[in-house]
Amino acid sequence: MNDESAASTNGAQWTIIKLIRWATSYLNSHDVDSPRATGEILLAHALHLDRIDLYLRFDQPLEAAELRTFKALIKRRIAREPVAYIVGKKEFWSLDFDVNEDVLIPRPETECLVEAALDHLAEITSRRPRRILDLGTGSGAIAVALASQKPHHIYFASDRFQSAVELARRNAGRHDLCRSIHFLVGDWLSSFKGIGDGFDMIVSNPPYIPSDGINVLQPEIYRYEPIAALDGNEDGLACYRRIIKSAHIHLNPDGVLLLEIGHDQREDVQQIVSRVGRYQDFNCAKDYSGYDRVVWMRKRD
Ligand code: GLN
Repeated sequence: MNDESAASTNGAQWTIIKLIRWATSYLNSHDVDSPRATGEILLAHALHLDRIDLYLRFDQPLEAAELRTFKALIKRRIAREPVAYIVGKKEFWSLDFDVNEDVLIPRPETECLVEAALDHLAEITSRRPRRILDLGTGSGAIAVALASQKPHHIYFASDRFQSAVELARRNAGRHDLCRSIHFLVGDWLSSFKGIGDGFDMIVSNPPYIPSDGINVLQPEIYRYEPIAALDGNEDGLACYRRIIKSAHIHLNPDGVLLLEIGHDQREDVQQIVSRVGRYQDFNCAKDYSGYDRVVWMRKRD
């Protein structure tokens, strides 16, 4: 496509349908996943439309400026930038989240952690609001999803990066949950010394990729997502050690700790839990692909 020719090529105009077809084959030839869907999402973004609206305007010609904007977006995707960062948002738990390169893009498997947390909350019969903490909240995905389902509890969400906390707060605002979630900047549990009572539930999806496994992931991940959100140090387990060692101090009697894990980390994490010796009822749930994904444990009496 030659953008010097403005919105026409050989006298024929670039319409929405022609661009969708062109983008599909161009993205496909660059091995980009889901080329048609990607082309449509980027075109809709360039035109400030919802994707569905493209279908009602197939024959609409593009202005030269719109064409340039679209072409720039396609270039970014060819350079392997994730669609979520290009368009600045991602859906999680059927809610829209703003995302940028300061935070991990929320993953579908993390919905299993939200489900497991909700299952635990469903077992509670008393109406007393519970205190729930999301550690390493990033975009705020977990805290916001939980608060959207169970708004009468009291939520806390922390991250060691101010920029992540700001984005998470914005996402809470987007869903009218600012008053339900208290945001804090801090390194794991260190910022919670002396903040009110303990927690009834602590949830976290910590970084869990072994350091030397990061640059063998897809370029979308290692080139664009924040290393700090991925890197679990040498063996991938460093954050589990820190969280498991101190979470019980901050949990109320009967409080639960729920953690997302890598598909091959259940045994290692269970070993850390037994070594710390402060928990009981260790359990694990699988994700939709059948991999171990979420572990939980109760503070020992
Ligand atoms: N809690 C956020 C999420 O699950 C961020 C997790 C992280 O950065 N490791 O998406």
